[in-house]
Amino acid sequence: MDTVVAYNLIGGDEDDYMYDSIDIRPDICPICKNRIKDVPDPYYKVKKKGTYVTTYDHYDIVSEQFRKFCIENNYQNLRFTELVRSKGYYVLEVGEVVYLDEVRGHIEFVNHRDCCGSYDEIICPPLYVSKDRNPPLPKDFIARSYYRYGSFNRKSPVLLVGVETKRKMKEYPLKGLYFRKLFL
Ligand SMILES: [Zn+2]
Repeated sequence: MDTVVAYNLIGGDEDDYMYDSIDIRPDICPICKNRIKDVPDPYYKVKKKGTYVTTYDHYDIVSEQFRKFCIENNYQNLRFTELVRSKGYYVLEVGEVVYLDEVRGHIEFVNHRDCCGSYDEIICPPLYVSKDRNPPLPKDFIARSYYRYGSFNRKSPVLLVGVETKRKMKEYPLKGLYFRKLFL
């Protein structure tokens, strides 16, 4: 049987875009228009004030409580950009990488672009953590996938948390979070 080694952390929907138009997006390749990086807009105003919500264009927004939880637990390589028009809310960027297993996950890579090295689409939500490409996974961590999943300018890495991290988040409690099992 496959062992659960981590969880894909999923929040609520923000039901809005951080950037209203593709013409003003600073986070896409100017040639192929694929999402290549995160550029949080500190002037964005939050609509749904939850623990963790994601915009349509895939920015993760977290509450002060979520940030406090991360600081107390000393998770490494996280960046919080404060939203100046929505005090107590932050855009979260995760730096630590955990590799997922694209082969066992039957993940499809569509149309590689030479301009920026991205794919137009990386399809299928991942299910497996790579057995070969990671050091042994700790039980308590926050990380992201190497690839951004999704299509064109709507792509984002998958957020991962450890088995122990999930327990702590529930106990804290951080509400409105969903955890999808990831196997080794
Ligand atoms: Zn490109």
